[in-house]
Amino acid sequence: MINETMYDLGSEPSAIRELFAYGLARKAEIGADKVFDFSLGNPSIPAPPVVKQAILELLGEPPVALHGYTPAQGTPGVRTAIAESINRRFGMKATAANIYMTAGAAASLDISLTAIANEGDEFIVIAPYFPEYRIWIEAAGCTCVEVMARISDFQIDVEAVKAAIAPKTKGIIVNSPNNPVGSVYSEENLCALADVLRAKQEEHGSSIYVICDEPYREIVYEGVEVPYIPALYDNTIVCYSYSKSLSLPGERIGYLYIPERMPEWERVYAAVCGAGRALGFVCAPSLFQGVIEKCVDAPTDVAAYAENRELLCRGLTELGYEYVEPQGAFYLWVKALEADEQAFAERAKALELLLVPSTSFGSTGYVRIGYCVDKATIENSMPAFKALMESYQK
Ligand code: PLP
Repeated sequence: MINETMYDLGSEPSAIRELFAYGLARKAEIGADKVFDFSLGNPSIPAPPVVKQAILELLGEPPVALHGYTPAQGTPGVRTAIAESINRRFGMKATAANIYMTAGAAASLDISLTAIANEGDEFIVIAPYFPEYRIWIEAAGCTCVEVMARISDFQIDVEAVKAAIAPKTKGIIVNSPNNPVGSVYSEENLCALADVLRAKQEEHGSSIYVICDEPYREIVYEGVEVPYIPALYDNTIVCYSYSKSLSLPGERIGYLYIPERMPEWERVYAAVCGAGRALGFVCAPSLFQGVIEKCVDAPTDVAAYAENRELLCRGLTELGYEYVEPQGAFYLWVKALEADEQAFAERAKALELLLVPSTSFGSTGYVRIGYCVDKATIENSMPAFKALMESYQK
């Protein structure tokens, strides 16, 4: 007898992956330029030249050491480089002892949840949300509690979070810049959340952690600032990834930061090492630990995404679509033209527009457009968006 939950997870591909697979098949059938695939969050710009340079330099080093095991939590060199970068950028006092290298944000999130959760605990997610959160929360034996974002501006609805916190609440996942909405939570919003969490910790005599999922931290537009949550709330665990910021999603590299301000941070860090061990998430890819040590402050090039954002927003506005003005990440959250967003996405699909219905993100009435694509895909998709709009006006 196998584990049926795992069987179900493995045999039912996610709606996003399914749509992507459909797009590949459809492109083979009618030509790549005739299918407008906005389904995935795969960066469309190459990794910056400093990454290639670092790889080439590292390949000159003795291979046994280069490709060998590192300490479970990562090399002291890369962890020190990351800690120093965090201190320079955000005024923290991190050292290598606060950093655990991971195979991307996915591993960081899974490790964080496993490290702090006990069976039956609850974790709050802000809907719409990245669908894997529920899977990791439930795999840790816990309950996923959805709280809708404020519908007026897609900031965190702090009063709703307050109402959802129970004695079993162990944490809340905060993702800003946000996938799928593209919103960035303001400092005011996050301070209000921190106040509520502090009061609830006091009331329940427990720790409530913010798990801060920030693979999109560097991808912001028009000078928007992304507040650093550990500076606002001590019980914060940072899950960072270079998948989007350096366009390295296939290399699986990121880190966890357990801030030195967190009460009993050494115990939490030890639990992180334990969770990494239990899950087999030890010794993140060694070549890319070396790359990150050399490229830790490499700037993220957002020019192409900014151009796509502008092009898409302008085009859709002219056609009469409504959407949430994106401040970061590379997603546009667009209102469906009928109450049933799945039917809307199906109608779009018939016009070769691959849009992800909001149901995939625990919400209704919208679709997500991933604009991490070629500029030409956006330009050439406009007649299809026009036809889609007109099909509802008839
Ligand atoms: N969190 C969010 C919100 C994401 O969008 C993604 C990937 O798309 C991840 C986590 C996982 O990122 P990684 O590739 O670093 O595992």
